[in-house]
Amino acid sequence: MKIIKNYINGKHLESQSSNFSEIFNPSTGEVIGKVNLSNKNDLDIALDSCNKAMLDWQNTSPLKRSRIMFEFKNILNSNIEELAKIVSLEHGKTIEDAKGSITRGLEVVEFACGIPHLLKGEFSQNVGTEIDSWSVRQPLGICAGITPFNFPAMVPMWMFPISIAAGNTFILKPSEKNPSCAIMLAELLTKSGLPDGVFNVVNGDHNIVQNIIEDDAISSVSFVGSTPVAKLIYENSAKNNKRVQALGGAKNHLVVMPDANVDQAVDGIIGAAYGSAGERCMAVSVAVAVGDIADNLVKKIKTSAENLIVAPYMDSNSDMGPLISSEHLNKVKKYVDLGVEEGADLVLDGRSLQIQGYENGYFIGPCLFDNVNKSMRIYKEEIFGPVLSVVRAKTYDEALHLVNEHEFGNGTSIYTSDGEVSRHFSTNCKIGMVGVNVPIPVPMAFHSFGGWKNSLFGDHAMHGMEGVNFYSRLKTITSRWPKSINKGPEFIMPTN
Ligand code: NAD
Repeated sequence: MKIIKNYINGKHLESQSSNFSEIFNPSTGEVIGKVNLSNKNDLDIALDSCNKAMLDWQNTSPLKRSRIMFEFKNILNSNIEELAKIVSLEHGKTIEDAKGSITRGLEVVEFACGIPHLLKGEFSQNVGTEIDSWSVRQPLGICAGITPFNFPAMVPMWMFPISIAAGNTFILKPSEKNPSCAIMLAELLTKSGLPDGVFNVVNGDHNIVQNIIEDDAISSVSFVGSTPVAKLIYENSAKNNKRVQALGGAKNHLVVMPDANVDQAVDGIIGAAYGSAGERCMAVSVAVAVGDIADNLVKKIKTSAENLIVAPYMDSNSDMGPLISSEHLNKVKKYVDLGVEEGADLVLDGRSLQIQGYENGYFIGPCLFDNVNKSMRIYKEEIFGPVLSVVRAKTYDEALHLVNEHEFGNGTSIYTSDGEVSRHFSTNCKIGMVGVNVPIPVPMAFHSFGGWKNSLFGDHAMHGMEGVNFYSRLKTITSRWPKSINKGPEFIMPTN
């Protein structure tokens, strides 16, 4: 059985603790490995390694740091198949979906290759008589990233490429449910020429996260995960004087207007609701049918959803794989039970799905509820599975109100052929990422990813210029050379 250790100072390192967590293959339910659950001593070893690497790395020119990123991009590209297999084995998503997510991470590496340009400050000559002023962006020091199970390659790559390109050292604490991908990323960084100690992986659970948050040596915490944990991380990191960005859960609405192209909307909804078994923070979990489109929309979603192929990732025909764990499978099934109790119409029920040869896998088929309303828990709470709720709204205003009143604000989308309505929607919805006739509006690496409301705590979204600004701090220098005329002490605020 494989044992996943930490990766510190360019080497695999056994934890100081004797605690482990099991790693499962969600397609079969088998235990395929175990991972070290690190303790404070392990963190101290990683911090020591970060500190030793720090000075040289900060003083390495941004151009040289960017060349290592270029090399990492190339090596990542040639290892994408192997990395995707690791992601699919421990997560369950299809190989093609895993490759897509790695590519989205790789695009952040490409963005980070531009770091010499991205770190440039501003310069003003003669801000006062013979006085010049300019700004620089300098690294923070040691940055930490804490990541969820659902994107074991992409989400860490939202963080560390920009952080290390900006001159920081980095400690990644990946999800204990699928930690192997982070280790392979660390190995590939070493192969790319990254000096030892600049990037380290410390495995563990919530206990090591607590140690990370409390340690004075760590300057910033980037978190992606569920909302209750994001809120906790945000509050406690701030209490410990850290810069923090904490991205949380979601309940993304896709609004279908009566003038929408229904088939396009259905295609968008099916992929966004059931792709990756709904375990995406940008998954569509609520379709809002406006006006008289609802009956036709629900009928078409049902027909399309019941034809989806639910199968293990090894089956190249698979549209969606299993959920991450048996606990999560039970939780999702309980939400479907709850929806029935709450009075929603269960139009498609995937609870009893069994796949021959994979009876112990964590599979559930697509589920579809119609006539869901805003007082139901299945509407209010994040389910994080292949369960789509259709809410019927009489008018556009009612639909917009639903979107804006919901506690989450990660993503939303509108399907319409009316430019005025789409413009009104994208201007007035209280959501961080908005699609118009696009079901999953994930911003590219050179823009920034982040929600509003209970989907993001902190001031900065991930990657793009938000990432550069998060992982660097501004210094502004005002300078006069001594040959300037000495006027003696000045006691008033200078005005020129
Ligand atoms: P999670 O919150 O359970 O875990 C995320 C990370 O936090 C893991 O590394 C875990 O070890 C750690 N953790 C868990 N409990 C903790 C605690 N009490 N204290 C400190 N650390 C703790 O999330 P998950 O189940 O791994 O991932 C799914 C969640 O992530 C969903 O809610 C999903 O919406 C969200 N997510 C959000 C985004 C986004 O961009 N907003 C992206 C991906 C996933």
